[in-house]
Amino acid sequence: MINGKIWLSSPTMHGEELEFVRQAFESNWVAPLGPNVTAFEDEMAAYIGVGHAAALVSGTAALHMSVKLAGIRPGDKVLCSDLTFSATVNPVSYEGGEQVFIDSEPKTWNMDPAALEKAFEKYPDAKAVISANLYGTPAMLDEIRSLCSAHGAVFIEDAAESIASTYKGRETGTFGKYGCLSFNGNKLITTSGGGMFLSDDEEAVKKVRFWSTQSREPYPWYQHREIGYNYRMSNIVAGIGRGQLLHIEEHKAAKQAIYRRYREAFRDLPVQMNPYDEQNSDPNFWLSCMTLDKGVKTTPEEIRLKLNEKNIESRPIWKPMHLQPVFADRDFITAADSPEQSLGADIFARGLCLPSDIKMTEEEQGTVIDVIRGTLR
Ligand SMILES: *Cc1c(COP(=O)(O)O)cnc(C)c1O
Repeated sequence: MINGKIWLSSPTMHGEELEFVRQAFESNWVAPLGPNVTAFEDEMAAYIGVGHAAALVSGTAALHMSVKLAGIRPGDKVLCSDLTFSATVNPVSYEGGEQVFIDSEPKTWNMDPAALEKAFEKYPDAKAVISANLYGTPAMLDEIRSLCSAHGAVFIEDAAESIASTYKGRETGTFGKYGCLSFNGNKLITTSGGGMFLSDDEEAVKKVRFWSTQSREPYPWYQHREIGYNYRMSNIVAGIGRGQLLHIEEHKAAKQAIYRRYREAFRDLPVQMNPYDEQNSDPNFWLSCMTLDKGVKTTPEEIRLKLNEKNIESRPIWKPMHLQPVFADRDFITAADSPEQSLGADIFARGLCLPSDIKMTEEEQGTVIDVIRGTLR
């Protein structure tokens, strides 16, 4: 409980963060870039097992840079996860591209390879695919990746929620040509705000560093041939990230314990936890989620309000992108017989994100569980 409240997911700081920030102050590396940025990139690339990394101001910036690298131009189609946070898909619009939303599959709630295949039949010229690993659960990454290569589309992996999750023994964020991480306040590790672009393609990472520092050419004066962005992470912020990275495995283990306790406690209730591929993946369980079984009278919103009365934060599942007013004119592809039978919409209607804060004690989680149990009587 922090400030009298049980949170969905709040920052967990340790002390080393402040030490790296103090070093930055002492050496007057307060200005953007500096040794913490380079070290944070190197340490993260080594941890993830990817060739190169560029630290940026947000995960959204990393996604934007990926969309630019994929060469998306006005009118180009990009096949995107439907059940996700809007930040996954907004950068397509920044470049004038058009999202085509792809429904979820039931095994992991992520992009359905069968629907993706259908989408490639309808849009054979689609240049890129952006797939998120929802709530930390890896998607069917091998299937998505091979469809992308078969159709010559760039695979952009949005691993903002899934940092430290693995699929077939490999870290998420390394399956796409480009991978994106977020260090926003509620993510597994945080820098207050920040993100990272990952790739094995060194030229791509260099290009991202160039664009994100105003596309400044190597001249003594300010010389520009391309439009630039101010997207680079600062040396102060990177110091926080270096301190957090020391504790990433511990954060993951704590999230996993929270998920397992919910699953155990809900055994006798008409409730399911968010599913994952138990054979092939080791999710970070950034957020534990539940769905009410079909036919249950209680709604997720009733549970959310009941928890809120007890000062416990929960949150609806991401509302699918194809149901968002801003994307009303976009196409939506599902493997179901009709768009009305979309799996994502069904998960949204029956689901709820539960408190997954790693500072929540077992006793506090017991309170959360009791409140939920009470609403189902
Ligand atoms: C948080 C998040 C982002 C964006 O990250 P920011 O750092 O907040 O810009 C992108 N995609 C998903 C799935 C996220 O959850």
